[in-house]
Amino acid sequence: MIKIAKRIMDLEESVTLAITAKAKELRASGRDIISFGAGEPDFDTPENIKATAIKAIEDGHTKYTPVSGIVELKDAIIEKFKADNALDYERSEILISCGGKHSFFNLCQSIINPGDEVIVPTPYWVSYPEMVKLAGGIPVVVHTDESTGLKMTVDAFKSAITPKTKAVIINSPSNPTGAVYSRAELTGIVEAAVEAGVLLISDDIYEEITYGDVPFVSVASLSKVARDNTVVLNGVSKTYSMTGWRIGYAAGPKEIISAMTKVQSQSTSNPTSISQWAAVEAIKGTKDEILRRCDEFKKRRDIMVAGLNGIEGVSCMVPSGAFYVFADVSKLYGKSVTDKIIGNSVELSAYLLEDADVAVVPGKAFGDDDHIRLSYACTEDNIKEGLLRIKKALGALS
Ligand SMILES: *Cc1c(COP(=O)(O)O)cnc(C)c1O
Repeated sequence: MIKIAKRIMDLEESVTLAITAKAKELRASGRDIISFGAGEPDFDTPENIKATAIKAIEDGHTKYTPVSGIVELKDAIIEKFKADNALDYERSEILISCGGKHSFFNLCQSIINPGDEVIVPTPYWVSYPEMVKLAGGIPVVVHTDESTGLKMTVDAFKSAITPKTKAVIINSPSNPTGAVYSRAELTGIVEAAVEAGVLLISDDIYEEITYGDVPFVSVASLSKVARDNTVVLNGVSKTYSMTGWRIGYAAGPKEIISAMTKVQSQSTSNPTSISQWAAVEAIKGTKDEILRRCDEFKKRRDIMVAGLNGIEGVSCMVPSGAFYVFADVSKLYGKSVTDKIIGNSVELSAYLLEDADVAVVPGKAFGDDDHIRLSYACTEDNIKEGLLRIKKALGALS
């Protein structure tokens, strides 16, 4: 038997995708599972975007495009940065890839040497530490808790910096917490990063899904130095319900973007031509539908938060963005039901799936075992029914 490469043996599989698959499997076997596991909007891709993709096929946009993406999409992205973030980029500073995940992969491969450290605040998106490791780097985890709104403070960041620190990741609004960094919070982190020569990686994928409590601010938009020391990652997956289309993009210093383009040229080449044309329509089109969907998400968020906080032993903050709630369930640890003792987030999630037919994601997947993540990218009825089931199951613990 061929031995699998060590760097792959060391890699974790995506727990969020695994939970979604397990819930689907149970559902297929006839169980009425309510899933709060989704990592994508439940809405369909808007009609104008679909129609544009169909037209792209009919118009023959079905061949290789330039590796870094078509100029029409680059220009739409450049306009978006100007209009939404007051940021100026040139075409050579933009790379379009097969999803934001791919953008981050290209970035890691381009900047990380073996032994380089990347600071990753908890709770983190599952792919950050793994992709850092895949590039030979060392993820340095900075723990956060509710006392700072599940956000990394400047002091915590500074204490984690060493001579080997290459970059720091900021994901605001955050998956899994929904926390949004304020301008003041970001300013301190940017200053410290610039002073230490640490690259800022700003994952803005949930930029448009915010609820007004804390306005979104892009790290790169804070100042000229911030812009020159940041790689912004973004994409159409979450905002436009286009997760299956696989279009993400990166903006940043020319040298880094050109290195990332080289990685892409020897791996995937261009992202799908048809999806690129669809993304032009998404980014340039009207935002009415997106705003309507945000209102819908906000309604669901409020039901989810109120419901969870009404359950004994559970507490959660009100998230300012994305479509997740990160609930502290650690008060329940040590309790049991019949022969089962619930000792951590994985056991609690397994209990909810098996005994309450509700799928949630254990916080451990995000580097934080005190919590579980619940996605409200599902119908209001599902949220209400799911909350009843959770309340009943957790109430049975003693
Ligand atoms: C979903 C997600 C992404 C990127 O998703 P793609 O579909 O690859 O564009 C990036 N970062 C976070 C935090 C996400 O939740």
